[in-house]
Amino acid sequence: MSEHSPVSHSARVPRAAQPAAPACGLAAAYAELDLPAFRHNLQRVRDYAPHSRIMAVIKANGYGHGLVRVARALAGVDAFAVARVDEGIALRDAGIQQRIVVLQGFFRGEELKLHARFNLEPVIHSLFQVDLIEAAAFMESLAVWLKVDTGMHRLGLDESEFKACHERLRRCKRIRQLAPVMTHLASADKLHDPATAHQLALFDRITGHYGEQRCIANSAGVLGYSSAAAEWVRPGIMLYGASPFADRTGADHGLKPVMTLKTRLIASKRLKPGDAVGYGGDWVCQRPGRLGIAAVGYGDGYPHPAETGTPVLVNGRRAPLVGRVSMDMIAIDLTDCPEAQIGDTVTLWGEGLPVEEIARHASTIPYALLCGVTPRVRVVERE
Ligand SMILES: *Cc1c(COP(=O)(O)O)cnc(C)c1O
Repeated sequence: MSEHSPVSHSARVPRAAQPAAPACGLAAAYAELDLPAFRHNLQRVRDYAPHSRIMAVIKANGYGHGLVRVARALAGVDAFAVARVDEGIALRDAGIQQRIVVLQGFFRGEELKLHARFNLEPVIHSLFQVDLIEAAAFMESLAVWLKVDTGMHRLGLDESEFKACHERLRRCKRIRQLAPVMTHLASADKLHDPATAHQLALFDRITGHYGEQRCIANSAGVLGYSSAAAEWVRPGIMLYGASPFADRTGADHGLKPVMTLKTRLIASKRLKPGDAVGYGGDWVCQRPGRLGIAAVGYGDGYPHPAETGTPVLVNGRRAPLVGRVSMDMIAIDLTDCPEAQIGDTVTLWGEGLPVEEIARHASTIPYALLCGVTPRVRVVERE
């Protein structure tokens, strides 16, 4: 095992600035990252979409796994996608050479200039962006992606805007490459939802006769809609080993979780019936038992709404969380884990405990749990 900087500061924090203590010996939460799992999950994308190029989505600090770290672990892909220009610049600063697509593109001239300077490929989703390109004074050429709105109603051009945009950009000398046209599926995480078939048909109608390459499928599209695997696919969550579907886990798709969030038991005490635990005394002990306190809380990104009964693993065995999640601690009912001791490992999600299951207990989604791991959580990389 090797030790690295906190999740969010991936490339920029000098190693010397990090405390010397080994992450797994501290009474504090740490995230073990199984780096070979990235390659395994990438292979699963190839299995599902064997004829497509792959744009790996690594926005939001690589879904909480570290932007540059993820880019290095997924070096075999054809392009990376980030949400914003600063993420693209951070990748270039770290020496990443692959194509980088900026999903939100630019909304001011200065951001456009940065795209040209750092060789980032913006997504053009609105006509005002074409105005900015035509008005720009810079000399570098640009590759751009065009995005069509087929029903998500977030970013994207409608049919007549697409036509106008395509026409103008084709004439624009600054554009060295009109890269593939994109659209985003709103409901691919519901299998057999007619909305997805409708979006696919509309996209085909709007873009089909232009002959450009196409890029449609997010993870749910890759896993659930083989008809959405065009020349390019655009998966995110499945690369991290989680499922986009509410009623599945990554393992159901043959994926492996990259992140396992762990901590240690730091205290334990006997409880008698009637003892209330934690803020507000929400949970009241019903039988003589034993409580464990683990060093993790919402200050680490463990979800505050996680309800009583949310499972954790104590030495690999399931035990229920009880009472409210604190900033730095959670309480666990250890009555049925008599062998558990101070210092034992507690797994919050990951290997052996699907993050999707924790998300359901906390009324959230696995994306939000992974992205929400905070900088104080130390990262331990496993090669
Ligand atoms: C985040 C994002 C993706 C990846 O979605 P997953 O559900 O994580 O696979 C793909 N395309 C766009 C436009 C996105 O914003």
